[in-house]
Amino acid sequence: MSTFCPELWPEEPTPHNLENCRECGLYEHGSRMVWGEGNPEAPIMVILDNPGAREDREGNSIVCGTRQSLQQAASSAGLKMEDLFVTFILKRRPVRAYEKNQVRQICMMHLEQQLQKKKPELIVCLGNVAVQSFFQNPEADVKTLRGSWHNVLGYQTAVAYHPLAVRRRPNLWSMFLDDWRFVAERYHYLK
Ligand code: SF4
Repeated sequence: MSTFCPELWPEEPTPHNLENCRECGLYEHGSRMVWGEGNPEAPIMVILDNPGAREDREGNSIVCGTRQSLQQAASSAGLKMEDLFVTFILKRRPVRAYEKNQVRQICMMHLEQQLQKKKPELIVCLGNVAVQSFFQNPEADVKTLRGSWHNVLGYQTAVAYHPLAVRRRPNLWSMFLDDWRFVAERYHYLK
């Protein structure tokens, strides 16, 4: 029986000067900002499209399905929580229609600042939305790019399906695991 147990990773606070960021207009959607979570000094940065809730409606902490599947696959591949920092293309979760390209372009500036500060050894980009934004290529997709290393903004980057896609289509799970093993192998080689 698996001993894996998902946990709510510690949240990295939003920098004080950006706590009230209104640059892209998503503040009007009412979702709160999540700057990142996991180990802020981690060698591997994981990039998702936007943050799922960390609390339910009553304010109790929850570990959403995306986080559960991500943690489970990373753990199965031999990675530890302290190896990973998770952040997002958008630091707020959109809850209705928005100007996708414009908003992503604006918030990508914050991700680029995070990269300059943290300088991760490896990046794992999850899902087509995050991949297209990070690769600055609207045609980029996980299916084509997975299983190889790509130089993006000077960082070694791997891609994998979004954990929610994997939950919806269980046949993707083995590929998702393969992608995390691919990352873990490079990480352990670099250590
Ligand atoms: S999503 Fe990004 S740009 Fe938009 S308000 Fe939040 S931090 Fe600012």
